[in-house]
Amino acid sequence: MEKKKTAGELLQEKLLYKQKDAAVVLDEKEMKKVFDFNKGYKKFIDAGKTEYEVVDYTVEYIKSLGYKEYEFGKKYNAGDKVYVNNRNKSLIMTTFGTLPVSEGVYIAASHIDSPRLDLKPRPLYEDKELAYFKTHYYGGIKKYQWTAMPLSLHGVVYKADGSVVKVRIGDDKADPVFCVTDLLPHLASDQMSKNAMQIISGEQLNILIGSYPFKDDKVSEKVKLNIANILFEKYGIVESDFLSAELTAVPAFEARDIGFDRSMIGAYGHDDRVCAYPILMSEVEVKAPKHTTVTVFADKEEVGSDGTTGMASMFFIDFIEDLAESQGVALRHVLAKSKCLSSDVNAAVDPNFPDVIEKNNAAYINKGVVLTKYTGSRGKSGTNDATAETVSFFRNIFDEAGVIWQTGELGKVDQGGGGTVAKYVSAHNIDTIDLGVPVLSMHAPFEVVSKTDVYMTYKAISAFYNN
Ligand code: MN
Ligand code: MN
Repeated sequence: MEKKKTAGELLQEKLLYKQKDAAVVLDEKEMKKVFDFNKGYKKFIDAGKTEYEVVDYTVEYIKSLGYKEYEFGKKYNAGDKVYVNNRNKSLIMTTFGTLPVSEGVYIAASHIDSPRLDLKPRPLYEDKELAYFKTHYYGGIKKYQWTAMPLSLHGVVYKADGSVVKVRIGDDKADPVFCVTDLLPHLASDQMSKNAMQIISGEQLNILIGSYPFKDDKVSEKVKLNIANILFEKYGIVESDFLSAELTAVPAFEARDIGFDRSMIGAYGHDDRVCAYPILMSEVEVKAPKHTTVTVFADKEEVGSDGTTGMASMFFIDFIEDLAESQGVALRHVLAKSKCLSSDVNAAVDPNFPDVIEKNNAAYINKGVVLTKYTGSRGKSGTNDATAETVSFFRNIFDEAGVIWQTGELGKVDQGGGGTVAKYVSAHNIDTIDLGVPVLSMHAPFEVVSKTDVYMTYKAISAFYNN
């Protein structure tokens, strides 16, 4: 016989907020969907470790599904699917809706760049008969985390004749890898007494790339010459070609399941490809939505969203203007009715570091996708801070679709903070809110997410696009 609930228990149920736990709520059938979805995600994240590679991979994928390059002036019908490739570093995908764009477009934006070590324009040098690449780190990293582990090299080199060489070396098991060396503990007493910012300095992030000399007594810097010779033989590039290159070093390992229960994934670059994949899958699956979708893969978020391929660039607004103009509507009237999910990661509570969060308002692994009303730092400075009405709009959509979601903020008050692309989108008079996956070890070479949270991000975006 079922025990009768007390008055207090009934009131508790009626009045108090209770956070759901995905691993408790989901049944076996849905858990299978979670694991299947994450298999696709692991493939995606291993295929694209730089924005160039993500765009390459995604364009090929969406073309196979029937997406066509957008043509201004062409008439499109509901359900038609197009894309705009911005310099092979950022990408817009659209599915036309049944409503005119004067009713607003539905935007989801994630960034596809991640923290890493970029090569300097003149990277190649030799020191004490070892050859190195000089780097300038990209994004917010703890520099000491990037030593003593295998790195792979990715990017593009434009040669003097204008032709381009794509480089990807170190991911294949047969490839060599590279690394930044660190000091042995036996000799590190001076180093270990330094502040963590100085344990490894920016100019010490030099990548070891070779040690054999070129056999010729007449020349100096023989190791450097030998490496230059190998690069010429393999890629046809000479030293001056580095001046017109974008080469970057990233962790050489693949995405792996974490835990005996395989409930989590460890990988390089979850931030923010772990949101890019869910928005991509929601975009490709939507049939003929009411509102035209604008799915954006942005570059440069980790360095402030500047440049032609970042969200502060006009490229994405220009595209919406194209949509507006082709339907005879003013851009500003489209923007005023549009909505955006700035789909980016948030910090997950790490029990090893309980002091940086406030437990009621922080995001937790396995409690679903995080809806983040505001980011910023020092009194919400530099935040989009979504309106209550915007929160209400999304909250209702998610609850109706059975999305398990939680609220989050980036650390306790005055602990630090950060930002996303949300403020660059909302600056155009578009209602915007942050939504994404909670991450452990964010910005480390190996970040951790939960599979249920990745899946719930996909469910949330899909619910939005199908609303
Ligand atoms: Mn991010
Ligand atoms: Mn980030």
